[in-house]
Amino acid sequence: MATIFTKIINGEIPCYKVAEDDRFFAFLDINPLVKGHTLVVPKQEIDYIFDLDDETLGAMQVFAKSVALAIQKAVPCKRIGQAVMGMEVPHAHIHLIPINKESDMIISNPKLKLSAEEFQTIAHDIQQAWNK
Ligand code: 5GP
Repeated sequence: MATIFTKIINGEIPCYKVAEDDRFFAFLDINPLVKGHTLVVPKQEIDYIFDLDDETLGAMQVFAKSVALAIQKAVPCKRIGQAVMGMEVPHAHIHLIPINKESDMIISNPKLKLSAEEFQTIAHDIQQAWNK
């Protein structure tokens, strides 16, 4: 059965998309730790990121870098932190998290409740920065 992220990539489940190429897809995490919290996924459906072949993992990291640079332009922050867990969704993904301090990365922190308009604005701003 298709993962929830495959359904998002295929447009069967809505998301706030920020970037896409032929192999990778990036969209806002629906339960963000901070504004701009983004997930980067391969279109190839694979559970564990470290089961990706070396070339695909490298290309995914380069794609994630381009998205991180776009987030940094769109969302005021000191750095973009990166995390890989995959404890909830069995489809490889990288979390990109705008941070100002170390504790912004604590995954068990309370999640933000954003309106649809806020998600749309953030996604639009990141997408614009990514396209430049
Ligand atoms: P992990 O698998 O890395 O532990 O966490 C999965 C992440 O995916 C969580 O941060 C969760 O909020 C996010 N997530 C789960 N389901 C959806 C969804 O349907 N849409 C979006 N945008 N994010 C999701």
